[in-house]
Amino acid sequence: MKRRIMQALRQLEQNPKLRSIQSVSGGDINEAFFVETDLQQYFVKLNKKQPIDFLRFEMDGLRKISETQTIACPHVYALMEIDDIPLLVMEWIEGRKTKDTETQLGENLAALHLHEGIHFGYEKQGYIGGLKQENALYDDWLTYYRDFRLKGQLERGRAEGRIANDRERRLEKLLEQLERWIPSHPKKSILHGDLWGGNWMTGPEGTPFIIDPSVLYGDHEFELAFTELFGGFNDDFYQSYTSVFPLSDTYEERKELYQLYYLLVHLNLFGESYGSPIDQILKKYVSL
Ligand code: ADP
Repeated sequence: MKRRIMQALRQLEQNPKLRSIQSVSGGDINEAFFVETDLQQYFVKLNKKQPIDFLRFEMDGLRKISETQTIACPHVYALMEIDDIPLLVMEWIEGRKTKDTETQLGENLAALHLHEGIHFGYEKQGYIGGLKQENALYDDWLTYYRDFRLKGQLERGRAEGRIANDRERRLEKLLEQLERWIPSHPKKSILHGDLWGGNWMTGPEGTPFIIDPSVLYGDHEFELAFTELFGGFNDDFYQSYTSVFPLSDTYEERKELYQLYYLLVHLNLFGESYGSPIDQILKKYVSL
């Protein structure tokens, strides 16, 4: 691996002098390294199992977020392929939280969400965790969310036997009635798309950074609902977020239907331990 990383560094620096390479744990999908040369510190991500498009999607997302100049995310130095292994080199982020970090995270994320795309969805196939996420651009959020997000996971789960019987019937019925809860024309916010507590970190001077995005254009409440699913965001975050971009009065009514997508993704990735919260949500919204 060291040889490959050195090869990558030679494309970034004239005559790189390596000080350190250390493996970084935490990600479930990629191999990651802290790399330091005399000139720079880098975070290097490699993925032996996915095509280069997997890391290209992450790079494009980071660049889209960065263009808005609202919330910090790692600068991408390069995407390359070495010995057929895709490799993404980005800025190394390190820092300590201050009392303002989470307030800033809320404000900056809300500012990101105030930036709009032209349509809902995304212009090309993406990934959520290790799963492919088919995409298209739509003028109607309800249709995109139903057909590409929920139905996409339903079909995958059905094919793998994870969604069957009552779970399958309820989910099908839910999709038929989804317009009762999901709006067609919210703001077309730029969303991080995979914002659980492990996908933000603190950088220099306590600045919050978001990492590992799965970008789309859609209802900001979809993002907020996911932040609430597994925790990792405190009251300061929600207070500052909503002071910049308030949630609608009906947020609580649809929140679980937005969390449902992420739970289905987890069911399809990790199995039945996510089945019971899914069934609870389905029972709440749909009777057979
Ligand atoms: P994966 O895509 O495999 O989930 P992540 O992007 O989440 O990988 O990264 C794995 C871990 O590496 C994270 O939990 C985080 O602690 C750390 N990390 C991610 N990006 C950076 C970065 N730019 N600088 C420093 N550490 C990072």
